[in-house]
Amino acid sequence: MSGTRVLVAGASIAGPALAHWLRRRGAEVTVVERAPELRPGGQAVDARGVTKEVIRRMGLDAAVRAACTQTIGAHTVDADGNVLETFRVDDDGGDGFIAEIEILRGDLSQVLYDDTRDGVEYIFGDRIAELTQDADGVDVGFAGGDRRRFDLVIGADGLHSALRTMVFGPHEQFVRHLGHVLAFYSVPNEFGLDRWLIEYQESGRSAGLRPIQDATRAMAMFSFPAADLDVDYRDVAAQKHLLRERIGGLGWLTPGILAHLDDTPDFYLDQVAQVVMDRWSSGRVGLLGDAAFSSSPMSGQGTGLALVGAYLLAGELAAAGWDPAAGFAAYEGRMRSFVEANQEIAQLNARSRDVPGPDTEPGPDFTGEWFAELVERAINGVELPDYAGVPDAGAPAGTPIASSARP
Ligand SMILES: Cc1cc2nc3c(=O)[nH]c(=O)nc-3n(C[C@H](O)[C@H](O)[C@H](O)COP(=O)(O)OP(=O)(O)OC[C@H]3O[C@@H](n4cnc5c(N)ncnc54)[C@H](O)[C@@H]3O)c2cc1C
Repeated sequence: MSGTRVLVAGASIAGPALAHWLRRRGAEVTVVERAPELRPGGQAVDARGVTKEVIRRMGLDAAVRAACTQTIGAHTVDADGNVLETFRVDDDGGDGFIAEIEILRGDLSQVLYDDTRDGVEYIFGDRIAELTQDADGVDVGFAGGDRRRFDLVIGADGLHSALRTMVFGPHEQFVRHLGHVLAFYSVPNEFGLDRWLIEYQESGRSAGLRPIQDATRAMAMFSFPAADLDVDYRDVAAQKHLLRERIGGLGWLTPGILAHLDDTPDFYLDQVAQVVMDRWSSGRVGLLGDAAFSSSPMSGQGTGLALVGAYLLAGELAAAGWDPAAGFAAYEGRMRSFVEANQEIAQLNARSRDVPGPDTEPGPDFTGEWFAELVERAINGVELPDYAGVPDAGAPAGTPIASSARP
């Protein structure tokens, strides 16, 4: 069946990436985003291993590389700025701590949106208010008043997914907190930052600065421990207040960075949390990206999972002739262990930041062979079928899908 109508909720990373692949496989795609426009902001996100192959198959390699941060490495420093450790971009073949492809989340979102905006219907400033499914389709009522019918609905609406709550149950059932909060916002580069990321850690809290393409600015990053804290993820003023309170007194360049909290054009703060679900679909409704399987920023792979998942979800649905049960099952079958490896890495990273106490387990030993194997699974542990025989309307010229990337 061609012309399958798919509604996607969320236009950040997973949503537009899925729109790209659904359109190429012959579906008619509508994306609804709650924000009035594409949301800027966020830290750099990385593309490693198999994710780079998905970007290549999307024909977006050049566009993504052109928008990269061009970071050449990272230093951890003491309170006086003396270097403690150094990581370079070419460590681990470009797939290390600082990946060869690092792009600001907002810039990647823009690249994906620009790529799809002509063949996809985007609706900003609206959201799904209600939804009823029957054997043949899904009736959707939008908050703005429209009512429409779709064949499939996919939630790519992030960690706090409203669609997940609507169809699968309350947030608390699926969200696993890792005990930390992260915040990012851009500041003027009055700190002499030059293509090196710098991070300072003190008693479980950290402050950092990351270079971005615009050398006159830098991305500030903070983390602090917070077990199960309930942050209102839409109340930016309260989040800034919380950050000031929890980061106050931290050494290094922290006061100078905090001084820009009120004049920054972008701000992101959220709990480090994962989403763990038994299944990522129910009837004609499926989930993708953070909504289904957030691995948290501590994995460094949330974007990779969203991009790889988008490729597989569209491919499997189309390969199954748009049969939701078969398509969603095949997508889950391919993705699950890849997701689990990334969630395990994030849990280990979060544990290594915990402040040691009398009852704390010893931190993980990252030098063991088991860890290298886990990282390999987290970066490359998923097969990308080439879906030969499945319609591919918009394959970019010169980049045929020639082979399957295998673990
Ligand atoms: C502004 C912002 C900044 C971020 N910064 C970082 C960062 O610095 N580091 C990091 O590792 N990760 C960050 N993330 C998360 C990161 O983008 C994801 O981990 C990953 O890329 C997977 O993306 P996603 O598209 O599944 O989810 P998300 O990127 O969370 O996107 C979800 C999208 O859905 C929209 N949305 C929410 N509710 C609804 C609704 N009811 N209806 C319609 N749309 C809805 C949101 O506005 C958002 O655009 C950020 C996300 C956002 C939105």
